[in-house]
Amino acid sequence: MTYNNDNLTRRLEAVRDRLRRAEKRFGREEAAVALVAVSKTRPAEAIRACAEAGQQLFGESYLQEATDKVTALFGLNLQWHFIGPIQSNKTRPIAENFQWVHSVDRLKIARRLSEQRPEGIPPLNICLQVNVSGEVSKSGAGLDELPNLAHEVTALPNLRLRGLMCIPAPADDFEKQREPFRKLREAKTALQRDGLDLDTLSMGMSHDLEAAVAEGATMVRIGTAIFGPRNYR
Ligand SMILES: *Cc1c(COP(=O)(O)O)cnc(C)c1O
Repeated sequence: MTYNNDNLTRRLEAVRDRLRRAEKRFGREEAAVALVAVSKTRPAEAIRACAEAGQQLFGESYLQEATDKVTALFGLNLQWHFIGPIQSNKTRPIAENFQWVHSVDRLKIARRLSEQRPEGIPPLNICLQVNVSGEVSKSGAGLDELPNLAHEVTALPNLRLRGLMCIPAPADDFEKQREPFRKLREAKTALQRDGLDLDTLSMGMSHDLEAAVAEGATMVRIGTAIFGPRNYR
């Protein structure tokens, strides 16, 4: 597949505009919301073009293609976010290659990531994936198990728990889109009241970015709106 870099840069710019307009409209501070460009299924060259246009944060879901791209683009100083489902026998390359993991939903995975995080580099930033409302996938901790999980993850030495993440079922209605995001925000507030030091809400994709910003997202994960529709092989 070939990428038209002018097109890509224009789409990236349009997403940045959307984000800045949403921040203004919903009373958020300018640049309060970080943009993670979700580059799963996209070639390294598309990522390089985005990086040249100033994009630094990239999200990947599939481990093999992700580590290939991390290796190919080494030296560009990108920040890599793992956002996909995690099998417990695949934690080591995640602990070694990524700066953030958004999709931790059980203690076993967190323990392995902490044990396998290499010495001498900063702790791995973690968001706990929460199943706030009949999500499409079965992934995500339940709201009832979240407090225990959060406290146990906080105690792991090579992880830094930053916040929460969710992937709600798609909805067209704006108010409907806000509901799961509001629940995630309230769950984070409850944990903070409980003494946890959290600063991140990873929520909002191409179709519901504005609703997520309205409910306090600090990171949105955007693929299609930047790179176009995905072709799964
Ligand atoms: C693919 C993916 C995204 C990006 O979705 P788009 O609809 O393409 O913006 C965001 N988050 C996760 C966890 C994903 O798997």
